[in-house]
Amino acid sequence: MKLFSVFKYIKGYWGYAGLNIFFNILFSIFSVVSLALVIPFMDLLFKSSTADYLVMLDAGKPVFDPAHAVEFVKGMFNYNMAELIVHSGKAEALFFICVVVFILTLFKNLFRYLAMYFLAPIRNGVVRDLRNKLLKKSLNLPLSYYSNERKGDIMSRMTSDVQEIEWSIMQTLELIFREPLIIIISLIMMISISGYLTLYVFLFLPVAGLIVAIIGKSLKRSASRSKEILGRLFNILEETLGGLKVIKAFTGEKYVQRKFEETNETFYRESVSVYRKTDLTSPISETVVVGILMMILFIGGKMVISNDTVLSAAAFIGYFAMASQIVPPIKQITLAYNNIQKGVASEERINKILHAESDILETPTPTEIKTLLNQIEFRNVSFAYTKGDAGYVLKDINLSIPKGKTIALVGQSGSGKTTLCDMIARFYDADAGEILFDNLNIKQTSLKSLRDMLGMVSQEPVLFNDSVFNNIAFGLENISEQQVMEAAKIANAHDFIVAMPEGYMTNIGDRGAKLSGGQRQRISIARAVLKNPPVLILDEATSALDSENERLVQDALQKLMKDRTTVVIAHRLSTIINADEIVVMERGQIIERGTHKQLLDQKGTYHKLYEMQALK
Ligand code: ADP
Ligand code: MG
Repeated sequence: MKLFSVFKYIKGYWGYAGLNIFFNILFSIFSVVSLALVIPFMDLLFKSSTADYLVMLDAGKPVFDPAHAVEFVKGMFNYNMAELIVHSGKAEALFFICVVVFILTLFKNLFRYLAMYFLAPIRNGVVRDLRNKLLKKSLNLPLSYYSNERKGDIMSRMTSDVQEIEWSIMQTLELIFREPLIIIISLIMMISISGYLTLYVFLFLPVAGLIVAIIGKSLKRSASRSKEILGRLFNILEETLGGLKVIKAFTGEKYVQRKFEETNETFYRESVSVYRKTDLTSPISETVVVGILMMILFIGGKMVISNDTVLSAAAFIGYFAMASQIVPPIKQITLAYNNIQKGVASEERINKILHAESDILETPTPTEIKTLLNQIEFRNVSFAYTKGDAGYVLKDINLSIPKGKTIALVGQSGSGKTTLCDMIARFYDADAGEILFDNLNIKQTSLKSLRDMLGMVSQEPVLFNDSVFNNIAFGLENISEQQVMEAAKIANAHDFIVAMPEGYMTNIGDRGAKLSGGQRQRISIARAVLKNPPVLILDEATSALDSENERLVQDALQKLMKDRTTVVIAHRLSTIINADEIVVMERGQIIERGTHKQLLDQKGTYHKLYEMQALK
């Protein structure tokens, strides 16, 4: 049954779980026993003569017998009570009972607290572990996974679904150990008072269980729906915060607001339904259980009225007190059961991420590459983003990128240039053909060593909300300020960095929002300089810049490219005139290749493109 699957999360917390269970057991015993004291209390008030107690006293101390432990404790207590009453009087005995009940209650609550005390590290530890595991998995999943999944949905799984699991865990620990224990101990006591009456309880209890199970099933469905909608809500939120500038510029506030409100409304409706179903559990289970109790009250009361010797009035009242004691745990269990249903719905959503298959896998014995010796080569490479249809993004690409040379890719937007570069880093795997790094298929290499060979600077620099220093040293360890500064100087970034309020320690804001486009780009170039990779990929690194900035960045890039193997995608053809080979792409295929001069002489596509730009 899925119900217990939450237990695997407790792995590593068995110590705490054991302590929690131990104190829960003590708690249950103490709660039931303190209530059982009602019987001698009643006896004391209503039994008129001390003669009864003399009889008890005469019976002597009971002998311990493990099979009748309850009888023994009861006997011991009765004996001591009788002794107290006979020798010191009823008032004294009453005082004694009150003190005992108070002490029992004190311990009962101490144990309850201790049980919760040891539950806290489990609950929070499970949440911490799960979030760490989810982030680790998110970092390992290939880029293609994220083209198909919504970021907001992944975020909602990492936050609210994980929270739901926390609830499940706590509820399960209670469900499995504390509440049933109270019920079992109460039932034992009840049987010891009257087995006949308790038979009725056993007959009708399963009815309550059935009703609860039906509600639980429908609850799970609603819960999973509401979580999915929450994911969409997160998604809108994420896009809104990320695109505030555009939203304001295009005065799209109303549209975004409406989209959010609509989704939020759906979420509201689903949540209300989840709450109503959850809230239905306790009233129903209480009604059913109290119905059973009333029946017992009736049958037992009749026995007392008819002066049946089997059941004294005091014993019946004690019995009834104990029977009512099982109502709250039954309510708790039904509630817990339903919360677990919600937890299971969340668990399924989390598992979708945790069990997502990565299709970019390393071989069992990957080869570490140290440097590029000869060339990177594309051999008959074809690739499509969506498998199964004919929409190839790259088709039959043959290309060699020799060590130390600069290869330029040109072509219309959408012709597959970025895709080709991404494949060198193995962000995507070829559907046909192979990519070779010094004659070794990159599928045979270790991913880390392959990516360590590459430095990428793209049109949209990726910066983090952190200091300039940490952004430049990103991904590298043990970097000195001196090294970062040297890299920044090569990247023409040093001057503007030192002019900032806190120099290299200045925080650059979300995605580098506090910097200009050119400054952002120069920081990402400094990052590439510092990494010092043998192979460089420049994907339209200057196309988002104005000409003043472009000159500075271009100059920085020139320094970076020196002595390196470079693939450069250029928007402005003037920047690649000196490339060793220019490759012209169209709809995923290479249609022309050669040096700038050769291509101009061909008077083909490149010539046309060049003429067009020269006119500008
Ligand atoms: P370029 O860099 O030459 O402008 P791209 O390599 O970015 O071209 O894109 C080539 C084609 O692949 C385009 O038609 C684009 O629509 C498609 N494409 C790019 N990225 C993805 C993606 N993540 N999922 C699906 N299709 C994509
Ligand atoms: Mg591109």
